[in-house]
Amino acid sequence: MANPTESLNQGTIAVRGGLNTDEQYGSVIPVITPSTCYRYHEFATPREFDYARKSNPSRRLVEETVAKLEGGADAILTNCGMSAIHLISISLLTPNDLVVAPHDCYGGSYRLFNSLSQRGYFKAKFVDQSDPVALKEALNLKPKLVLIETPSNPLLRVVDIYEIAKQAHEVGALVLVDNTFMTPILQKPLALGADIVTHSCTKFLNGHSDLLAGILVFKDQQLATDVLWWANNIGTLTSSFDSFLLLRGLRTLSARITLQQINAQKVVEFLVNHPKIANVYHPSLPLNHGHEIAKKQQKGFGSLLSFELAGKAEALPKFLKALNIFTLAQSLGGVESLICHPATMTHSGITAEARKTAGISDQLLRISVGLEDISDLLNDLQQALAVI
Ligand SMILES: *Cc1c(COP(=O)(O)O)cnc(C)c1O
Repeated sequence: MANPTESLNQGTIAVRGGLNTDEQYGSVIPVITPSTCYRYHEFATPREFDYARKSNPSRRLVEETVAKLEGGADAILTNCGMSAIHLISISLLTPNDLVVAPHDCYGGSYRLFNSLSQRGYFKAKFVDQSDPVALKEALNLKPKLVLIETPSNPLLRVVDIYEIAKQAHEVGALVLVDNTFMTPILQKPLALGADIVTHSCTKFLNGHSDLLAGILVFKDQQLATDVLWWANNIGTLTSSFDSFLLLRGLRTLSARITLQQINAQKVVEFLVNHPKIANVYHPSLPLNHGHEIAKKQQKGFGSLLSFELAGKAEALPKFLKALNIFTLAQSLGGVESLICHPATMTHSGITAEARKTAGISDQLLRISVGLEDISDLLNDLQQALAVI
């Protein structure tokens, strides 16, 4: 029978995830299922769920909803973004296998691949995926897994998922896309050729900065089933209560992304025209790395941006101190606006030299634009820039 939810649009899928699934009371909002174990029907006849390390009803509803949003066959919810990336690498890679990742990937992914490869779990190579020669050289080494992350953090550089996936498939690699910055509302990596999508659900998918979770979404059911075996084996899974909260956060995903993006565009315009700002990085800007790719690959330019202050280094702490609304903190994707100084925060774990190569200056600031009233956000930036 055709599934009537298959043709629904993403905003609807996100709002209605798991609604009306309770058979006992007919509750519209699904119940939380904290039970770790499930009663057998009878001897040798388990129900759908048996033990909660493997799966449970609350988690399953999130997995089904995000799988639908990304257009995948199945999904596995984990306890944070890093455990999802750890799970996929440990499930797929053996000591002679190579993973190719972007040189400017999320710092935690860089550290994970680097430290596990140093211990001999697998091999890792980091390349500038926007450089066709470097990419080809890396693919010639026949990697088993290629990680793509676009737009990048914190400079919002965009690479071509379709093109990289095509080349990776030619050498037999599986393609994993970290879609945390865009969410399925703005970018659909599986439709562009990826095999697996991952998210830090801690960020936009939950959107309220009050839980950690990660997810893997698979194009192919068999791969999902194989990785689920490892998820149960290792024990990477999310609690029922966090699953419930995440499903609740997902209901407003489309609305949040749409409005945060409108706010972000206004912040970009304000910063671009301000004399005390030297550079602004956002995929909407024609000079941004990969702007043309972003126009065709993304449904919007997103609500993350970064910029550099013009003038002396002393201005930066003064500016940060003067802000009243933008909070100095290192996450992103919540309804509240945050500002972060990558050199001393998110990217302090990499050497000054590596930061320089990646183009991350000590003057760079990253903003995650939230849902506050835009005039308050612009006034806050205006008054903080006036004191420097
Ligand atoms: C935050 C983040 C992660 C890691 O997620 P956690 O939930 O913090 O473990 C991975 N990738 C990207 C792009 C992120 O922003």
